[in-house]
Amino acid sequence: MASFEASIRSTPFRILISVLLSARTQDPVTEEAAARLFAIADKPWKMARLPEAEIARLIYPVGFYRTKARHILGICQALRKAEKFPATLEGLLELPGIGRKSANLVLSLAFGQPAIAVDTHVFRISRRLGWAKGNTPVHVEKELEVLFPRRRWADVNQVLVGFGQTICRPIHPKCGICVLNRICPSAEFKTNPK
Ligand code: SF4
Repeated sequence: MASFEASIRSTPFRILISVLLSARTQDPVTEEAAARLFAIADKPWKMARLPEAEIARLIYPVGFYRTKARHILGICQALRKAEKFPATLEGLLELPGIGRKSANLVLSLAFGQPAIAVDTHVFRISRRLGWAKGNTPVHVEKELEVLFPRRRWADVNQVLVGFGQTICRPIHPKCGICVLNRICPSAEFKTNPK
């Protein structure tokens, strides 16, 4: 995740498109797809001129590449009409294909705003650790906002995504080597730590 974040730390537009591409896609695949796309067009007005099929070809094999190509075109057309780049949750949520998690990620990465992006890792780990009990990402987001100071909100996603990919995995979490296993109510000490 760290290299992915480093690679997209440029313009809000690049961050937005990279976040869109990253959904259901591994970081190296996202990075390569974004590089191919930005090499052809790295501004909304340029990208809006590309045929949808061309965008789909450039971003393949990211997950749902056809749908994402359609959303990318829609985003570019919306941004061309906008007076300025949307830097609020409400503004970002109006863009095609941008949900709450992605919007919060863009707010934190592009604008340094305090926002907790609750993706599958943040949702799962927060509940396992007993930090949150909510059954939806937005409920978990609200619980985490109470638990952590605002200056740490952006860190939550960045820390937990890596932790969720390596230790607190969706299945077979490595509880045996987890530094939190003594305080975690969900620790499974019979799990093979490999
Ligand atoms: S002890 Fe296991 S379930 Fe709890 S945070 Fe660590 S890896 Fe996840």
